[in-house]
Amino acid sequence: MLVRLAEQIEGLALRSAPAGAARLMGALPPAALASIQAARFRRTLKLAAARSSFYREAFRHRGIQVERIEHPSQLGDFYTTGEDLRSHGADAFLTGRADTAFETTGTTSPVPKRVFFSTRELNAMGTASAAALYLLGLRREDTVMSAFDCSFWVSPAVARSAVQYIGCFHVEAGKIDPLDCYNHAALYRPSVILGEPSWMVRFAAIAAERGTWPVKLMLAGGENIAESARREVERVWSAPLYLNYGQTEAFGSIGLECREQQGYHRNDLHFLFEVDRPDAEGYGELIYTTLTRDVMPLIRYRASDVTRLIDEPCPCGLFVRRIARIRARSDEMVVCGMGNVGPWVFDEILRGVPSADEWQAVLTSDGRFDVIDLRVESDGVAGAPALERIVLDHLRERFPDFWKNRDMRLYTLRVTAVPRGSLRTGRKLRRIVDER
Ligand SMILES: [Zn+2]
Repeated sequence: MLVRLAEQIEGLALRSAPAGAARLMGALPPAALASIQAARFRRTLKLAAARSSFYREAFRHRGIQVERIEHPSQLGDFYTTGEDLRSHGADAFLTGRADTAFETTGTTSPVPKRVFFSTRELNAMGTASAAALYLLGLRREDTVMSAFDCSFWVSPAVARSAVQYIGCFHVEAGKIDPLDCYNHAALYRPSVILGEPSWMVRFAAIAAERGTWPVKLMLAGGENIAESARREVERVWSAPLYLNYGQTEAFGSIGLECREQQGYHRNDLHFLFEVDRPDAEGYGELIYTTLTRDVMPLIRYRASDVTRLIDEPCPCGLFVRRIARIRARSDEMVVCGMGNVGPWVFDEILRGVPSADEWQAVLTSDGRFDVIDLRVESDGVAGAPALERIVLDHLRERFPDFWKNRDMRLYTLRVTAVPRGSLRTGRKLRRIVDER
């Protein structure tokens, strides 16, 4: 009964204009959420077991009787991994007729993961994203420019679908050279700019030199951004830069920041989230199960991102719960002489270092101890000794434990300045490379 009522509210919301949708979803009784998730989970699990050869085989092999499973946690140590998608291929996961597909390469393998969707699913994600963007301030009178990479990537499709529900003018630049893009953009003067964080940083640097125009908000997705780089982009445009957290496997959006910029409000109606083996602070690998997909549902998919679920209310007042900022990709966490290290450690060490937005840490061994080579893109390569001094100062002030390990000569930290643009070769930059 509660589930039916909640689903009716949601159905109405999805057919409403974004303003109404956002209001209606806020009216969803909180108790209804758990019931709606449970009902959708059972439906998804049955569909996967009946139609996907991968899940049918996996459940049979493990003796899992799906009709007895009420919650993903009852599936024990069964998970779906990116490697499963690669090695079994998308066909093994299909449960219905697909209309389109997107790909993701990630940072671990050159073999793409392919994920299939229906137009109905695209439209549902579009309306949900439209309601979220409305809450951030996007309106019909805005001009949107998207600089998302269009090659097999899901984000431009979801953005286009969302913008169409809001009804605003929009142009699609694709991911081209920021200077080239700036010359085009200056003619449209977009009030809303979408792009990948590292691209936004370069674009803002060009705008700082050549001139800005009034911008209402910016939205970036596809990777993390250091807070100092975000503040610089916001300073240049005098507008907020919001982050979206998503994956192609999740059809683009898992969660979106609100005006507080303290974690991503998560999409609990479309996903059921878990955290695998959380540490004392609740951080662990994010696991999600899709709840509304009928072409290629994913059961307990390992997101390979380390974060925690935040169930406390957000200061913004929105009822939707959150996911904390992503700390690292789980395959980028390393245990080394420095300590238990992830990309956020270097982000924090480099915070406040002028023009150090791109970096990569390469781990090797001198035979006895770990050597960490922190490569930082910098304009003046001659400034390397100065750069190293700042990095060491920050290490001492901000990570006393890691500093102590250095005092004990448990590792060597080298800082190398490299030319601008030399680290990033693909869409994503692998932050920590373990070559030991
Ligand atoms: Zn909030």
